Amino acid sequence: MDETDINSEVKCRNAAKVYQKKYRLEHKEEHKAYHKKYNKYHKEHLKKYYKEHRLELIARSKKWRLENKEKTKKYQLGEHFKDYQKKYRLEHKEEARRYRLDHKEEIRERRKKYRLIHRDRHKKWYLHVLKSWESYIPKETICEICGKKIFFCKSNIGEAICFDHKHENCAIKVGPTLWLSRHHMTKENKKIWESCKFGFLCGMCNSCLPSKNRKEWLKKVNVYVNK
Ligand SMILES: [Zn+2]
Repeated sequence: MDETDINSEVKCRNAAKVYQKKYRLEHKEEHKAYHKKYNKYHKEHLKKYYKEHRLELIARSKKWRLENKEKTKKYQLGEHFKDYQKKYRLEHKEEARRYRLDHKEEIRERRKKYRLIHRDRHKKWYLHVLKSWESYIPKETICEICGKKIFFCKSNIGEAICFDHKHENCAIKVGPTLWLSRHHMTKENKKIWESCKFGFLCGMCNSCLPSKNRKEWLKKVNVYVNK
Protein backbone atom coordinates (compact mmCIF):
# COMPACT_ATOMS: atom_id res chain seq x y z
CA MET A 1 0.00 0.00 0.00
CA ASP A 2 1.60 3.31 -1.00
CA GLU A 3 1.12 6.74 0.51
CA THR A 4 -1.74 7.91 -1.71
CA ASP A 5 -3.71 4.76 -0.87
CA ILE A 6 -3.23 5.35 2.89
CA ASN A 7 -4.26 8.97 2.53
CA SER A 8 -7.44 8.11 0.65
CA GLU A 9 -8.31 5.43 3.22
CA VAL A 10 -7.90 7.91 6.10
CA LYS A 11 -10.07 10.39 4.21
CA CYS A 12 -12.75 7.76 3.67
CA ARG A 13 -12.74 6.79 7.36
CA ASN A 14 -13.00 10.39 8.49
CA ALA A 15 -15.90 10.98 6.12
CA ALA A 16 -17.64 7.89 7.47
CA LYS A 17 -17.18 9.10 11.03
CA VAL A 18 -18.67 12.50 10.22
CA TYR A 19 -21.59 10.83 8.50
CA GLN A 20 -22.20 8.50 11.46
CA LYS A 21 -22.18 11.37 13.90
CA LYS A 22 -24.63 13.35 11.78
CA TYR A 23 -26.90 10.34 11.36
CA ARG A 24 -26.92 9.64 15.11
CA LEU A 25 -27.82 13.22 15.90
CA GLU A 26 -30.62 13.28 13.34
CA HIS A 27 -32.13 9.96 14.46
CA LYS A 28 -31.61 10.31 18.20
CA GLU A 29 -35.25 10.18 19.23
CA GLU A 30 -36.02 7.34 16.85
CA HIS A 31 -33.13 5.35 18.28
CA LYS A 32 -34.28 5.95 21.83
CA ALA A 33 -37.82 4.85 21.04
CA TYR A 34 -36.56 1.70 19.34
CA HIS A 35 -34.41 0.72 22.34
CA LYS A 36 -37.23 1.41 24.74
CA LYS A 37 -39.58 -0.78 22.75
CA TYR A 38 -36.98 -3.51 22.33
CA ASN A 39 -36.08 -3.53 26.05
CA LYS A 40 -39.74 -3.86 26.96
CA TYR A 41 -40.19 -6.68 24.49
CA HIS A 42 -37.03 -8.39 25.78
CA LYS A 43 -38.19 -8.17 29.38
CA GLU A 44 -41.60 -9.57 28.56
CA HIS A 45 -40.04 -12.35 26.54
CA LEU A 46 -37.77 -13.29 29.46
CA LYS A 47 -40.68 -13.22 31.88
CA LYS A 48 -42.70 -15.49 29.62
CA TYR A 49 -39.76 -17.86 29.17
CA TYR A 50 -39.21 -18.04 32.93
CA LYS A 51 -42.88 -18.74 33.56
CA GLU A 52 -42.93 -21.58 31.05
CA HIS A 53 -39.64 -23.17 32.13
CA ARG A 54 -39.77 -22.34 35.83
CA LEU A 55 -39.52 -25.85 37.27
CA GLU A 56 -36.86 -26.84 34.79
CA LEU A 57 -34.73 -23.79 35.65
CA ILE A 58 -35.09 -24.34 39.40
CA ALA A 59 -34.07 -27.97 39.05
CA ARG A 60 -31.07 -27.02 36.96
CA SER A 61 -29.80 -24.47 39.48
CA LYS A 62 -30.41 -26.90 42.34
CA LYS A 63 -28.35 -29.51 40.54
CA TRP A 64 -25.55 -27.04 39.98
CA ARG A 65 -25.55 -26.03 43.64
CA LEU A 66 -25.34 -29.68 44.74
CA GLU A 67 -22.47 -30.34 42.35
CA ASN A 68 -20.58 -27.17 43.35
CA LYS A 69 -21.12 -27.02 47.11
CA GLU A 70 -17.85 -25.24 47.90
CA LYS A 71 -18.41 -22.59 45.25
CA THR A 72 -22.02 -22.02 46.37
CA LYS A 73 -20.94 -21.49 49.96
CA LYS A 74 -18.33 -18.99 48.84
CA TYR A 75 -20.88 -17.12 46.74
CA GLN A 76 -23.41 -17.03 49.57
CA LEU A 77 -20.84 -15.51 51.93
CA GLY A 78 -19.69 -13.08 49.24
CA GLU A 79 -16.18 -14.43 49.69
CA HIS A 80 -15.43 -14.69 45.99
CA PHE A 81 -15.67 -10.91 45.81
CA LYS A 82 -13.80 -10.35 49.06
CA ASP A 83 -10.92 -12.51 47.81
CA TYR A 84 -10.79 -10.50 44.63
CA GLN A 85 -10.88 -7.20 46.53
CA LYS A 86 -8.10 -8.32 48.87
CA LYS A 87 -5.89 -9.43 45.98
CA TYR A 88 -6.55 -6.23 44.05
CA ARG A 89 -5.77 -4.03 47.04
CA LEU A 90 -2.50 -5.85 47.71
CA GLU A 91 -1.45 -5.58 44.08
CA HIS A 92 -2.29 -1.88 43.81
CA LYS A 93 -1.21 -0.76 47.28
CA GLU A 94 1.48 1.67 46.17
CA GLU A 95 -0.70 3.06 43.38
CA ALA A 96 -3.58 3.72 45.77
CA ARG A 97 -1.28 5.46 48.27
CA ARG A 98 0.08 7.73 45.55
CA TYR A 99 -3.43 8.51 44.30
CA ARG A 100 -4.56 9.47 47.81
CA LEU A 101 -1.58 11.79 48.21
CA ASP A 102 -2.00 13.42 44.80
CA HIS A 103 -5.78 13.91 45.05
CA LYS A 104 -6.21 14.96 48.68
CA GLU A 105 -8.43 17.96 47.98
CA GLU A 106 -10.48 16.14 45.38
CA ILE A 107 -11.14 13.19 47.73
CA ARG A 108 -12.15 15.54 50.54
CA GLU A 109 -14.60 17.36 48.27
CA ARG A 110 -16.05 14.09 47.01
CA ARG A 111 -16.60 12.82 50.56
CA LYS A 112 -18.26 16.08 51.56
CA LYS A 113 -20.59 15.88 48.57
CA TYR A 114 -21.38 12.21 49.25
CA ARG A 115 -22.19 12.91 52.89
CA LEU A 116 -24.52 15.74 51.94
CA ILE A 117 -26.37 13.61 49.41
CA HIS A 118 -26.73 10.58 51.67
CA ARG A 119 -27.23 12.41 54.98
CA ASP A 120 -30.94 11.65 55.17
CA ARG A 121 -30.43 8.03 54.25
CA HIS A 122 -27.74 7.58 56.90
CA LYS A 123 -29.88 9.29 59.51
CA LYS A 124 -32.75 6.96 58.71
CA TRP A 125 -30.48 3.92 58.97
CA TYR A 126 -28.96 5.04 62.30
CA LEU A 127 -32.41 5.60 63.77
CA HIS A 128 -33.52 2.20 62.51
CA VAL A 129 -30.57 0.47 64.25
CA LEU A 130 -31.01 2.52 67.40
CA LYS A 131 -34.69 1.58 67.56
CA SER A 132 -33.76 -2.12 67.58
CA TRP A 133 -32.54 -1.53 71.18
CA GLU A 134 -35.86 -0.06 72.30
CA SER A 135 -37.11 -3.32 73.77
CA TYR A 136 -33.91 -3.75 75.79
CA ILE A 137 -33.07 -0.26 77.05
CA PRO A 138 -35.90 1.36 79.07
CA LYS A 139 -37.85 3.98 77.15
CA GLU A 140 -38.20 6.11 80.23
CA THR A 141 -36.09 6.13 83.40
CA ILE A 142 -34.63 8.54 85.96
CA CYS A 143 -31.15 10.04 86.32
CA GLU A 144 -29.14 7.98 88.80
CA ILE A 145 -27.83 11.13 90.49
CA CYS A 146 -30.52 13.82 90.49
CA GLY A 147 -33.63 11.76 89.74
CA LYS A 148 -34.76 13.74 86.67
CA LYS A 149 -36.97 11.92 84.11
CA ILE A 150 -34.97 10.92 81.03
CA PHE A 151 -35.92 9.16 77.76
CA PHE A 152 -34.24 6.87 75.26
CA CYS A 153 -33.94 7.98 71.59
CA LYS A 154 -34.59 11.66 72.34
CA SER A 155 -32.65 14.14 70.26
CA ASN A 156 -32.99 16.86 72.92
CA ILE A 157 -29.97 16.46 75.24
CA GLY A 158 -31.89 17.93 78.17
CA GLU A 159 -34.33 15.00 78.12
CA ALA A 160 -32.20 12.18 76.67
CA ILE A 161 -30.48 9.37 78.53
CA CYS A 162 -26.72 10.03 78.61
CA PHE A 163 -24.87 6.76 79.02
CA ASP A 164 -21.99 7.34 81.39
CA HIS A 165 -18.65 5.52 81.23
CA LYS A 166 -18.75 4.53 84.88
CA HIS A 167 -15.78 2.18 84.61
CA GLU A 168 -12.56 2.88 82.78
CA ASN A 169 -11.17 0.57 80.06
CA CYS A 170 -14.49 -0.94 78.97
CA ALA A 171 -15.07 -2.63 75.61
CA ILE A 172 -16.96 0.30 74.06
CA LYS A 173 -14.55 3.17 73.64
CA VAL A 174 -16.69 5.48 71.46
CA GLY A 175 -19.79 7.33 72.60
CA PRO A 176 -22.31 4.71 73.78
CA THR A 177 -25.24 6.16 71.79
CA LEU A 178 -23.09 6.22 68.66
CA TRP A 179 -22.14 2.60 69.29
CA LEU A 180 -25.79 1.65 69.70
CA SER A 181 -26.66 3.31 66.38
CA ARG A 182 -23.93 1.30 64.63
CA HIS A 183 -24.69 -2.14 66.09
CA HIS A 184 -27.94 -4.07 65.84
CA MET A 185 -29.26 -5.67 69.01
CA THR A 186 -27.88 -9.20 68.83
CA LYS A 187 -26.85 -11.68 71.52
CA GLU A 188 -23.15 -10.84 71.09
CA ASN A 189 -23.71 -7.09 71.11
CA LYS A 190 -25.90 -7.37 74.20
CA LYS A 191 -23.04 -9.12 76.02
CA ILE A 192 -20.61 -6.37 75.03
CA TRP A 193 -23.06 -3.69 76.18
CA GLU A 194 -23.71 -5.41 79.52
CA SER A 195 -19.98 -5.78 80.22
CA CYS A 196 -19.58 -1.99 80.18
CA LYS A 197 -22.17 -1.32 82.93
CA PHE A 198 -22.98 2.20 81.77
CA GLY A 199 -24.67 4.58 84.18
CA PHE A 200 -27.94 6.31 83.19
CA LEU A 201 -27.57 10.06 83.71
CA CYS A 202 -29.22 13.25 82.56
CA GLY A 203 -27.23 15.61 80.33
CA MET A 204 -26.52 18.03 83.18
CA CYS A 205 -25.10 15.44 85.63
CA ASN A 206 -23.13 13.71 82.85
CA SER A 207 -21.45 16.92 81.72
CA CYS A 208 -20.43 17.70 85.32
CA LEU A 209 -18.58 14.41 85.84
CA PRO A 210 -15.11 13.81 84.39
CA SER A 211 -14.49 10.35 82.90
CA LYS A 212 -10.95 9.91 84.20
CA ASN A 213 -9.92 9.81 87.88
CA ARG A 214 -13.39 10.86 89.03
CA LYS A 215 -13.03 9.54 92.60
CA GLU A 216 -9.98 11.72 93.22
CA TRP A 217 -11.71 14.66 91.58
CA LEU A 218 -14.80 14.21 93.78
CA LYS A 219 -12.63 14.14 96.92
CA LYS A 220 -11.12 17.46 95.87
CA VAL A 221 -14.59 18.88 95.19
CA ASN A 222 -15.67 17.77 98.67
CA VAL A 223 -12.68 19.52 100.27
CA TYR A 224 -13.36 22.67 98.24
CA VAL A 225 -17.10 22.80 99.07
CA ASN A 226 -16.50 22.33 102.81
CA LYS A 227 -13.74 24.95 103.09
ZN1 LIG B 1 -29.14 14.20 86.66
